[in-house]
Amino acid sequence: MTQDQSKKTEIMDPRIPSLIEKAERALIVTHISPDGDAIGSLLGLGWALRALGKHSVLACADPVPQPFHFLPGHQEIVREPEGTFDLVIGLDASDPQRLGSPWQQAEGLDAPKIVIDHHVTNLHFGDINWVDTTAAATAEMIYELVQALDVPMNVDIAQCLLCGVVTDTRGFRTSNTTPRSLAIATRLMEAGADLNLVTEQALNRKPLAVLRLWGMALPRMQMRGRILWSTVTRQMREETGVNDNGDGGLVNVLVSANEADVAVVFTEREDNRVEVGMRAKPGFDVSQVALSLGGGGHPQAAGCVIKGSLEEVQELVLSALEESLRRQGGE
Ligand code: AMP
Ligand code: MN
Ligand code: MN
Repeated sequence: MTQDQSKKTEIMDPRIPSLIEKAERALIVTHISPDGDAIGSLLGLGWALRALGKHSVLACADPVPQPFHFLPGHQEIVREPEGTFDLVIGLDASDPQRLGSPWQQAEGLDAPKIVIDHHVTNLHFGDINWVDTTAAATAEMIYELVQALDVPMNVDIAQCLLCGVVTDTRGFRTSNTTPRSLAIATRLMEAGADLNLVTEQALNRKPLAVLRLWGMALPRMQMRGRILWSTVTRQMREETGVNDNGDGGLVNVLVSANEADVAVVFTEREDNRVEVGMRAKPGFDVSQVALSLGGGGHPQAAGCVIKGSLEEVQELVLSALEESLRRQGGE
């Protein structure tokens, strides 16, 4: 297993479209705690296979979050795929654990496993790995794959892929947004995808409960050096009624502070685990600390889940980040 720390464009392996063309029943799996790129890429590829007249099963171990219920076909995503498959494709995940039980169950099958991903921390755990860390979203790569498959772009594929590009770039604002991201988004809009719908549904709206949760977490913010961090306890989630994973995007708010190079939010989960969301200003990198703690991500956005109490995990992560930032500063 290898992983590369530098950003690298990787050309699509020509075996990928040819394996898809030959497949009779493909299983496509996206990551747990799915985001807009996970669901958008999964559905976009699913619609492309449907256009080719192929039957595929789309799987995600966790339910599709409500903000993505506007995407066509989301009801067809299953949590526990059944039957047998002659091709398995993993999307938008840098390690096999993040693909959850559908991937683990498929590992025993005598079927080629293809990994399509854009995380710098990717472990190349498939039989064929296409990892393009210059892609702002896995959905950009699926766009390219749809072209290689000679599938004419249609509005369903376009809407799903635009959701992936727009959410992973947070509305074309992240530092990994490229001319290619914008060119692909243009083509997807020309094919009928609705940019405003994606932006409204997936970026601009939140349940009131999430805002109440932020209201409880913001006064708990603390600075450690140039790291701004806060916590979301189980009690806070119970009091506000936020049951979804994570912090509802709070870490994106924290990293906007001028005084912070890095932001972290610790979310207390059941069974003595803590979810850690990290963000970095451009020029800083949190992906390698996430990778060293069993997670992964991008230089500017990464995460991991660690066993232990809130206090233990806070200390572990904050000291690892301090050390990493010292090295990044060249000291
Ligand atoms: P989040 O803070 O959950 O929005 O995640 C930011 C980035 O880190 C995303 O690109 C995720 O793919 C990645 N990431 C988050 N949690 C994990 C994890 N437990 N394992 C691997 N990658 C993760
Ligand atoms: Mn994702
Ligand atoms: Mn992604």
